[in-house]
Amino acid sequence: MPKINENFTKIPASYLFSEVARRVNEYKTANPTHNIIRMDIGDIKLPLPDACVDAMIRAANEQRSAVTFRGYGPEQGYEFLRDAIRNNDFRSRGIDIASDEIFISDGAKSDTGNIGEIFSIDNYVAVTDPSYPVYVDTNAMAGRAGEVNTNGMWSNLVYLQCNADNGFTPYLPEIKVDLIYLCYPNNPTGATLTKSQLACWVDYARKHGAIILFDAAYEAFITEDDVPHSIFEIEGAAEVAIEFRSFSKTAGFTGTRCGYTVVPKQVTSRNEKGENISLNSLWNRRQTTKFNGTAYIIQRAAEAVYSPEGKIQVKNLLDYYKQNSNIIRTELIKAGYTVFGGINAPYIWAKTPNGENSWDYFDFLLNKKNIVITPGSGFGHCGQGYVRFAAFGKKEDVYEAMNRLCT
Ligand SMILES: *Cc1c(COP(=O)(O)O)cnc(C)c1O
Repeated sequence: MPKINENFTKIPASYLFSEVARRVNEYKTANPTHNIIRMDIGDIKLPLPDACVDAMIRAANEQRSAVTFRGYGPEQGYEFLRDAIRNNDFRSRGIDIASDEIFISDGAKSDTGNIGEIFSIDNYVAVTDPSYPVYVDTNAMAGRAGEVNTNGMWSNLVYLQCNADNGFTPYLPEIKVDLIYLCYPNNPTGATLTKSQLACWVDYARKHGAIILFDAAYEAFITEDDVPHSIFEIEGAAEVAIEFRSFSKTAGFTGTRCGYTVVPKQVTSRNEKGENISLNSLWNRRQTTKFNGTAYIIQRAAEAVYSPEGKIQVKNLLDYYKQNSNIIRTELIKAGYTVFGGINAPYIWAKTPNGENSWDYFDFLLNKKNIVITPGSGFGHCGQGYVRFAAFGKKEDVYEAMNRLCT
């Protein structure tokens, strides 16, 4: 009999979202007529932009004819999409990224989860607390996280504490780490790093030979000038950073599936002999072996995000969610909550009013206000005593929820 990967058995079951679902279903069964408003899920409510759907239909029709039919595409993604990304997401901001530094994928979850494969399991990994669970769990699966304690914390991970005192922006690690996962604008806290704050992280990485894995899934929600959209806006970052992007939250691709990863050619790490090895070529090797590209039809849909109509439609979509964030943030503050985020991110991170623990407050909101949020403690130890409101719902529901909270 084959032995299993024991690392999988150490990972606590995905408690957060299944427990939310369990409690919501239990309540619904007991109270079938109550109108529950969900502000927990990071899934979007508005449909895909027309430009994307039209592009998909055109691309689908091409598959009817032997002349325009597409079979296997390049594992790294089609040139048309990589060029559109290079010009619109980077050149327009004065960043010079080459097309072969861009790898198209089926989303940032896969890429942030898979990137660890190109690094040794001996590396020290830093994650923020709280954080997006994928970073922690995939390192645990690889055997890089060590052993888990009763608080769900791993012995070999370095937790960068984020709390009200530091405005949910972490301090640099006190010990030398090799890999650092940063997600800004942040899920779940909505916090951001300014250019000068992010520059401190790039300096740290350069000084200590660390690599920053920068998750920019929410860059499209940035409203303030001083907040970098890409880590490559910071001088020297191309030597020490890999960046992850997604069309999911930007353009409604949560079900359509497309994202990309930027691995600059200058970014290197050492092999055992002390030689510098290009991470771009390692990631290329990994992708060409394990991935056969994102569907052509989907890549055409993603390309349409950058068309003139696509840009207007995506902006309208984002404006809608930004207004939701603004309403939630403003109303929570009026109601006396201490809140973070919501300005450059679709998440509002609120302290429970009387120091209740996250799950107790979850139960209160579900039972007394029929509002579902995400308990902050599910994202890490430092999330205890906080809850996350997501702004991806319908505006009417957001208003209704805020009314219920304030009465
Ligand atoms: C939603 C999200 C992603 C993107 O996921 P996709 O796989 O592209 O849908 C990546 N990182 C964070 C932090 C997210 O919240």
